[in-house]
Amino acid sequence: MVHPRVLRALSMPLIGHLDQAFLGVMNDIQTLLRGVFETNNRFTIAVSGTGSAGMEASIVNIVEPSDAVIVGVNGVFGTRWASAVERCGGKAIRVEAPWGQVIDPAAIEQALIRSGPVKAVAIVQAETSTGAWQPLEPIATLCRKHDALFLVDAVTSLGGIPVEVDRWGIDVCYSGTQKCLSCPPGLSPFTLSDRALTAIKARRSPCQSWYFDMTLIEDYWAEGTRAYHHTAPISMLYALREALRLVEEEGLPARFARHQLNSEALLAGLAQLGLLPLPQAGHRLPMLTCVTVPSHIPEAEIRMNLLSTYGIEIGGGLGPLKGKVWRIGLMGESSTEAHVLTLLNALEELFIRQGWLSTPGVALQAAARIYSRMAS
Ligand SMILES: *Cc1c(COP(=O)(O)O)cnc(C)c1O
Repeated sequence: MVHPRVLRALSMPLIGHLDQAFLGVMNDIQTLLRGVFETNNRFTIAVSGTGSAGMEASIVNIVEPSDAVIVGVNGVFGTRWASAVERCGGKAIRVEAPWGQVIDPAAIEQALIRSGPVKAVAIVQAETSTGAWQPLEPIATLCRKHDALFLVDAVTSLGGIPVEVDRWGIDVCYSGTQKCLSCPPGLSPFTLSDRALTAIKARRSPCQSWYFDMTLIEDYWAEGTRAYHHTAPISMLYALREALRLVEEEGLPARFARHQLNSEALLAGLAQLGLLPLPQAGHRLPMLTCVTVPSHIPEAEIRMNLLSTYGIEIGGGLGPLKGKVWRIGLMGESSTEAHVLTLLNALEELFIRQGWLSTPGVALQAAARIYSRMAS
């Protein structure tokens, strides 16, 4: 869901991307992005492209041929990141965990000790394919100790759970606009620490991607220079500014609490339907609820029915989880009590019709109990 103010911003008349007034839009975006990333990093921009562009940019700038990078792999996005490392001629050291679980910091430390010099450690904070919430602080500490850069994928997490770039010591962090920032897809918020910038400037070889070379892009975003590199996606930047203003108006603590409350209510309701979360307690993302679907339920059929009859779209499983889980997104504007109750009501109706549930109202009541507990 996208707020009407963001839709309106998308339709504003265009001006040149080097126009004085447009430079003001960019300044606003940089300031607002520093707020959501909780960073003072001067280098905080929006990369042209979706979340994967940020992922690609994080690797092509940091990794040179034969550099070793430890990548946490416990779902689709860690897998994709490791592939990006290898495409740059880097050595991807995969530290794996079963899908649905988080990466053990002790396993990262083992890899750091065993692998000799490691350029960077790359970790997905919110694995959208499994709903697992990866704690970052212990891994950040290890990166400092072993002098490795810390790369974090915050595509699904930014704006929904804390992403404290400065406090945790993250060196490269990127996101996407269409997850918890509730903006159409097309830009990737991106921030670099001074350590990361120093490493990029000390490269032995130029970044093999001209388009994503941050030493060139810096001249467009840096105040004072603002030199042409590539044409900025003007309408998308209008939209992002408006989406970030909405985040700022709500405030990060209130936004995180809203995501948490709606996910707790959803989980309470789903449990009454026999749908239990895949990740363990304490590692469940509030914006992406992944539940195991019992084998007697034809999961694809139910999802199709939800969409055609109720206008509700939920996600199926990816990779090894295909046909086994549902992934329910409650991101940004979509994280509302109304959405939670509408989905639970629809599932109750479908389950009663199939004979999988006998008492109507149990899921809705469980969710309502969470909401009334919070209200009192
Ligand atoms: C969605 C997502 C991406 C990729 O973003 P696109 O906008 O699809 O390119 C990367 N990482 C994570 C964790 C994601 O959820």
